[in-house]
Amino acid sequence: MAGEFALIEHLLRQTRAHQSDHPPILGPGDDCALVDVTRPGLVWAVTTDMLVSGVHFLDNDDPHALGWKTLAVNLSDLAAMGAQPRYVTLAAAIPPVDASDTSWIDTFFSGFMACAQSFKVDLIGGDTTRGPRSFSVTAMGEVDPAKALRRSGARDGDDIWVSGSPGYAALGLGSKLGQWQLPEPVAILADYALHHPEPRVALGLALTDMAHSAIDISDGLLQDLGHIAVASQLQASLFVTSLPDCPMDVDPDHWQHCLLGGGDDYELLFTAPTSARERLQALSHSLALPLTRIGIMHVPKDNAHSTAQAGRIVDDVQVLDHHGHRIDLTLCRRGFDHFANS
Ligand code: ADP
Ligand code: MG
Repeated sequence: MAGEFALIEHLLRQTRAHQSDHPPILGPGDDCALVDVTRPGLVWAVTTDMLVSGVHFLDNDDPHALGWKTLAVNLSDLAAMGAQPRYVTLAAAIPPVDASDTSWIDTFFSGFMACAQSFKVDLIGGDTTRGPRSFSVTAMGEVDPAKALRRSGARDGDDIWVSGSPGYAALGLGSKLGQWQLPEPVAILADYALHHPEPRVALGLALTDMAHSAIDISDGLLQDLGHIAVASQLQASLFVTSLPDCPMDVDPDHWQHCLLGGGDDYELLFTAPTSARERLQALSHSLALPLTRIGIMHVPKDNAHSTAQAGRIVDDVQVLDHHGHRIDLTLCRRGFDHFANS
C-alpha cells in the first residue's frame, strides 16, 4: 500500500456500498463533509470517544470486534441522550506496519462499518495519521432539545432503572486478564459483552417520552449513577435485593465488584417517575431487553450526603440491604478513572 492517500482511498472504498436513510449532502473526499438536520426543531447531539492501544484495548484483541466497539461506545453516548445517530467521523493513528500490510486495519474497518450499517449511520470523514494504534470517533445524532435525556434531569421520587445485564463486561475483562475463571456459559456471555457492546439506541429514543435522566454505564454503575445524583442534586439509593442476581457458580464478591464498579457495559442507567412503570415494562417486552428497577432518587436523608469534591469518594449513592441498612462499599471499587492515583 503506497502512502496515506492510497490507504484512505482503500478504506473508504468499503463505505461506498453502504446505504443509509439520510446520506450526507457531501461525504468524505473534500476538505469538509456537508450535512443537514433532517427535521426542523431538532438539534445535533455531538460526542467524541477515543480508544487507545494499551489503555482501552490490547494489540492482540480481535480487530473486527475492536472496530465494532470503537463505534458502538460513541453511539452509546448518543443513545444515553435519547438522540438518533446519523453521522460519524473516524480519526485513526496507525503504525506503519498497518499501512504496508492492511489486513489488521481492513478487519478493524469492516467491524466499524458493520456497526455503522447496523445503526444506519454514515461515515462522513476523518483523519489518518501515523502513530501507536488509537482511534477517535465523533458521532452526531439528532434530538429534540426539550426531550434530550440530561444527567441533571432526575427528580425526587424517581425510580432508578438499568437495561440489560450490567456486570458481564467486567466479568469478561477479569477473566481475560487471568484474575478469575468463569464457568463456561457465563464465560461466553461475558466475553461477548466485553467485545461486542450493543448501543441501546432504540431504548434511548423511547425513553425521551418516559425518563427524566439517563447515562450510559461506561465507568461502572455506582460511579455513573453518582454523575446523575450530583448533576441532579439528589441522592441515589439502590436496593441490594433488586440488583441483578449473581450468575451461577460465580464468586459473589467478584460479582459485586463487577456489577457495581465494573465498566464497559454500555447499558443505560436512567430515572423515571413511578407513573412510567407500566409503560417501561411494556417497552422492555417490545424491545426484548430486560429493564430492571434497582432503586430510587431522593433528597439526601442525612448529613452524610456531601456534594462532589475533586478526588473524593462522595456519598451521593448508597446501597441498602433488605433491612434498609447501608452496605459498606469501601471494598467495592467505585469505577474507572484514568487519572486516579496518577
Ligand atoms: P485534509 O488534508 O483536508 O485533512 P485528508 O487528506 O486528511 O484531508 O483526508 C482526505 C479525505 O478523506 C477527507 O475528506 C477526510 O475526511 C477523509 N478521511 C481521511 N481519513 C479518514 C478516515 N480514517 N475515515 C474516514 N474518512 C477519512
Ligand atoms: Mg487530514
